[in-house]
Amino acid sequence: MTAVRRCVQCKAAALFVVREWQHKALGLFTGVKTFELECQNCRARVVLHPWTEINVERVFAFVFMPALFPGLFFWLRARKKARAWTENPIVERSSIEGIAQPREPSRRCECSAIATCVAVVKEGRLTLPLGTRHEYQCPVCTARFAVHDAWGIVFMSFAAAVLAAVGLLVILVPSGPTAEIQASNQGFGVAFLAFSAFAALLFAWRVRQRLTHPLVTP
Ligand SMILES: [Zn+2]
Ligand SMILES: [Zn+2]
Repeated sequence: MTAVRRCVQCKAAALFVVREWQHKALGLFTGVKTFELECQNCRARVVLHPWTEINVERVFAFVFMPALFPGLFFWLRARKKARAWTENPIVERSSIEGIAQPREPSRRCECSAIATCVAVVKEGRLTLPLGTRHEYQCPVCTARFAVHDAWGIVFMSFAAAVLAAVGLLVILVPSGPTAEIQASNQGFGVAFLAFSAFAALLFAWRVRQRLTHPLVTP
């Protein structure tokens, strides 16, 4: 869930995540994310790079220390990225008054109170958009929930179908020069099916979230 950060430029507690990018390794989502934030007060933009990336650059800086300039280059880059985190600290939501929140329609909480939209986050990876996530906060039971847009839901069903098709194909039509290699390839097929099941669960969860939190028209 996203938190509000204090903007280093205008000092307002108005820095919201507007976009987040997932990082992939070996074709799989790693859970590592880069966040793009925008100040709702002065429109300043801040990018929060993942700490793993910053630490890798710190290691590079150390390794390249004998070669002065590359070492300095990585050290400055890592420092700049680390500062974006510390200069724009998280602020408690309770201390925020009169800040421009995303003006999006509200949705009903499961406790039947009206929950307001507190964040709009575009999800994606490099150039592939994975839909938009709206986050809501209920003022009565303080529950937080997220609702994905149609594209985010369609994408999940698409991902589940493609993964299942690939998995089944690999299991039913094993390829490989020997029986052992065929068997190990079938193992990959099972892994694809497992990812497909995971995507299908996410799909079902997103559909459920939309249905149980209908839009509230004022
Ligand atoms: Zn600002
Ligand atoms: Zn509630």
